[in-house]
Amino acid sequence: MLLIENFINGSYCAPLDSTYLDNVNPATGIVISKIPRSNKKDIDLAVQSAQAAFPNWSASSQESRFLILNKIAEGIESHLNELALAETNDTGKAISHSRQIDIPRAASNFRFFATAAMQFASESHDMPKRAINYTLRQPIGIVGCISPWNLPLYLFTWKIAPALATGNCVIAKPSELSPTTAFLLGKICKEAGLPDGVLNIIQGYGTEAGEAIIQHPDIKAISFTGGTKTGKHIATQVAPKFKKLSLELGGKNPCLVFADCDYEQTLKQVVRLAFSNSGQICLCGSRILIEERIYEQFKKDFIAKVDKMLPSDPLDPDCKMGSLISNEHLNKVLNYIELAKEEGGSILSGGTQIKLSGRCEGGSFIKPCVIEGLGPDCRTNMEEIFGPVVTLQSFKTDEQALELANCSQYGLASSIWTTNLNRAHRLAEQIQTGIVWINCWLLRDLRTPFGGMNNSGVGREGGYEAMRFFTEPKNICINYNSNL
Ligand code: NDP
Repeated sequence: MLLIENFINGSYCAPLDSTYLDNVNPATGIVISKIPRSNKKDIDLAVQSAQAAFPNWSASSQESRFLILNKIAEGIESHLNELALAETNDTGKAISHSRQIDIPRAASNFRFFATAAMQFASESHDMPKRAINYTLRQPIGIVGCISPWNLPLYLFTWKIAPALATGNCVIAKPSELSPTTAFLLGKICKEAGLPDGVLNIIQGYGTEAGEAIIQHPDIKAISFTGGTKTGKHIATQVAPKFKKLSLELGGKNPCLVFADCDYEQTLKQVVRLAFSNSGQICLCGSRILIEERIYEQFKKDFIAKVDKMLPSDPLDPDCKMGSLISNEHLNKVLNYIELAKEEGGSILSGGTQIKLSGRCEGGSFIKPCVIEGLGPDCRTNMEEIFGPVVTLQSFKTDEQALELANCSQYGLASSIWTTNLNRAHRLAEQIQTGIVWINCWLLRDLRTPFGGMNNSGVGREGGYEAMRFFTEPKNICINYNSNL
């Protein structure tokens, strides 16, 4: 059985207390590896190694960082098969998803921020005939990056790459449910020439290893992606310590379908945005709002498509939908479906556990679920389920659509499906989400600001937003007028 280790100071090592956790493949229910149950002592060791590495790494040229990060991108690409298999075995997601989305995006993250290191520039502000200000953008020091299980290497590298590109040393923790690709990344970084101690990857529980990262006095910034409840806890711990904090949290994303949409294309894309990765993407739409004039037709056609969706063995190259992340998560999703019924909702499709035979008989599979008949302010429509469960609601006017869309404590992403561009612009301006897609979904340009408002988080990732987050601006004012 694979024994996963921490990656500290450029080497793999056992947790100091020699305690391990089981890592279960959720598609089979079988333990596939042991992972370190790290704690404060391991984090302390990682911080010491990062401290030793920081002076040289932070003083290295942009070009040398660019070359190393680019080589890491190449290393990820050359290990595509191994990484994709590991991602699928940890998470139960379809192997085609791991191969075509997760792992290629992890390589793109490194390549994107490698080039950003070469392009990133700071500002100057002149005060005519008196002085000039210039602003240094210096690395913060040692930063903590904590990521979730749904897009493991994709989100892990989305944080690590800009942190390294700007000259920081990193202590990073993946979710204990998806440890393997982060483990494999250590070797790839070493082979790419990343100096020892610059990136330290610690495995274990969030409440132990993660908590030790957020509490450590020498870790000066925390970049966190995960649930809103965890984000709230981290904010309360980190704020009095005056650490820089970026929080990318949950969502309950609305999808607005208007009668004048490009019907067939919209139908196809709404199925995709609802159920990709079994609905376990923070950007998935879970509240489908449909204009009344086409509600019945759209519902019928949508359900016809969803009825045909069946989860299957994620290692099958034709698999479109694998398992959920764990049996515990499956039960959480099933409980939400029960709640929807108690709240008066009707199940139009799916919502039941699926038992596969053979290799996957112990897996956590569910048939995607469509619910109607619920108002906007019931728990089913207010709380993040993070599974393949959507509700349908109808609206008559643009104003009603907007009201329903904004009836949420979250504010991560939305999508609007219409051929009326005036309406699209008008609604996009007023909708309360950090990301708005018009006639598309998950179309990402890595230069754009990424993140949510309200309970979906604080701060933005992506492009120069990330480069700014991981640097400390220092303004220097030079007086050149001797008469002052
Ligand atoms: P969690 O909040 O449970 O965990 C996220 C990470 O935080 C994990 O690595 C976890 O470790 C760690 N963690 C847990 N407790 C602590 C703590 N006290 N201190 C430090 N770290 C801790 O989220 P999930 O992993 O369940 O991920 C799903 C959530 O992530 C959903 O709400 C989803 O919407 C959100 N998400 C948001 C995205 C965005 O960009 N806005 C993108 C993707 C997901 P461990 O798992 O080992 O306990």
